[in-house]
Amino acid sequence: MTRPLVAASAGILMAAVTLLHGQQPPPRVDAAALAGATARPQDWLSYGRTYDEQRFSPLTQVNDGNVSRLGLAWSFDTQTDRGLEATPLVVDGVMYATGSWSVVYAIDAASGRELWKYDPEVHRKYDALACCDVVNRGAAFHEGRVYVGVLDGRLVALDAKSGKVAWQTATVDQAQPYTITGAPRVVKGKIIIGNGGAEYGVRGFVSAYDAGTGKLAWRFYTVPGDPSKPQESKALERALPTWEGSDWWKYGGGGTVWDSIVFDPELNLLYVGTGNGSVWSRHLRSPGGGDNLYLASILAINPDNGELVWHYQTVPGDTWDYTAVQPMMLAELTIGGRARKVLMQAPKNGFFYVLDRATGELLSADPYVTVTWASHVDLETGRPVEIPGADYATKGAYIRPGPLGGHNWQAMSYSPITGLVYLPAQDNGRYFEQPDTFEFKPLEYNLGLATVGRNVERFDIPSAGRLLAWDPVARRPRWTVEYGNYWNGGTLATAGNLVFQGTAAGEFYAYRATDGAKLWSAWAGTGIVAPPITYEREGRQYVSVMAGWGGAFARRARTTGRLLTFVLDGKAPLPPRPRPRPATVIASGARPEEIAAGAKLYATHCQRCHGGATVLPDLRTSSPAIYGSYEKILIDGALAERGMPRFEYLDGAAVAALRAYVLDERRKLAGQP
Ligand code: CA
Repeated sequence: MTRPLVAASAGILMAAVTLLHGQQPPPRVDAAALAGATARPQDWLSYGRTYDEQRFSPLTQVNDGNVSRLGLAWSFDTQTDRGLEATPLVVDGVMYATGSWSVVYAIDAASGRELWKYDPEVHRKYDALACCDVVNRGAAFHEGRVYVGVLDGRLVALDAKSGKVAWQTATVDQAQPYTITGAPRVVKGKIIIGNGGAEYGVRGFVSAYDAGTGKLAWRFYTVPGDPSKPQESKALERALPTWEGSDWWKYGGGGTVWDSIVFDPELNLLYVGTGNGSVWSRHLRSPGGGDNLYLASILAINPDNGELVWHYQTVPGDTWDYTAVQPMMLAELTIGGRARKVLMQAPKNGFFYVLDRATGELLSADPYVTVTWASHVDLETGRPVEIPGADYATKGAYIRPGPLGGHNWQAMSYSPITGLVYLPAQDNGRYFEQPDTFEFKPLEYNLGLATVGRNVERFDIPSAGRLLAWDPVARRPRWTVEYGNYWNGGTLATAGNLVFQGTAAGEFYAYRATDGAKLWSAWAGTGIVAPPITYEREGRQYVSVMAGWGGAFARRARTTGRLLTFVLDGKAPLPPRPRPRPATVIASGARPEEIAAGAKLYATHCQRCHGGATVLPDLRTSSPAIYGSYEKILIDGALAERGMPRFEYLDGAAVAALRAYVLDERRKLAGQP
């Protein structure tokens, strides 16, 4: 039913593109250019390309008929070994990408040549204060300047030509454990920036700064402060009675705005997503209950004065780290025969939400992965219906999705041609249990949960990642692509009937947007978590992605980061695809039953990190001495400093079985029958 409308608007879009993509010098990137970014398909002007953040490109030179000819145009080595999560920007042939430690790179978008590099020289103590790696998700561009949020809480304006600092300001109290990893957005001459840190105990807020001067224009706190003092806004006065007890504000409260910020210029509304509570456990944070506004919420804010217009809370009284900061996108959908301006989000909690973005009315909420904390969302009240016991009030509970979320910051995309949302989804879980005692420790990791080893490993946890083509009108997936690993990359949709996505295992794929047929792939040399972009330069369409394994899932994995850019008939050499082949076979003397037991243990405990073959070490090709150290590594945590977790609940027999299985696999890899 939506098809004719969508097809017609796509047609108009293409006509506008043809008209405007002309010979005259490119217009400056001001408020009007950002609002009209659809008309500049050769560029990628802001985080989600256009203000609606659909990550849909009208470019068609690379399409489902010729994508098999896609080859590497150039590769840019970031010389880093931490996670790369950024969406690069492209403005008039210059790419602005951000990397580990908030470093900014300006690169010639056609050749890959570095033009300048800016290093904010973040103090390395922030490695311990960033929950989820020293990553950065991107910059913003406006009027000849590049804006970046720095891990230590600074907002920096750089001259786009030289990379020199125009101004910088601390957006947070730097004595507190705040960090910035998200991309700033530019809205009507203001730079909007949030922050993170709710696992360490901070109070969330979002700020607006004057783009020209760096002066603070407004700030909106997402949770109340000290209840004995006046609150900063009427919205917070309304929120205060939803918090119980006397200690929550000493824990910061949480609700940090660490990722999604989206602007609708027509409605003049700024949408921000807020994070989990600090501490995680609702029973410690707000004993006696309460919704704890505005945790885990989508907020619509007036961008001129920072006042709250409406809110929708996805998880009242969050107790599972169910942030609602995940990427939001704006679209026009025909729902029930009526055209609606919607906002779509697939937050960590496993439900795909469609809201009327003018009013905040909930239109639909459907599970897109396995969900065990709520049976459904009541569309009348807009509230989730919790499953009894899920809140682990008296007894520990194993809950899905886990804190990595059914979907995290890895951006989704939407094609107005297919009407599908391309969502990097994942199944995972975690065990939650109340601690016997709790003491809040400033500047430390405070979850308010019992520490039971690596809880997440204690149970047989089926985990998987997949690309989900979600139909937001029919409220179900149209097609899926399953991956062995989860924590895969964000997506890009194009009018060439393509969807691009990189994976944790280091493959970069192109799929047909209509049915998910795999059309092309390239080896990136390391796991990909970032979303790809596409742009055009001198008549050629390029597709770029940052490849650098890391982030919350595997923050200390050792990889080499790079920015890969592809073009039709590109001939640059891809990173060499390793062909592991152990030189020696080591006899284990194990019985078949022991090897089979080891295979089960491997699938539960090792596969999801080491199964990517080359993202983390392939256990089959270790140097022989390693196999004798399995007890020390697995039970005692000998390599914990290098990011290899302890599995202290495994016993000697389990470790021996694991070793037997790995050695048997090594024998097979060496070509022995
Ligand atoms: Ca969190």
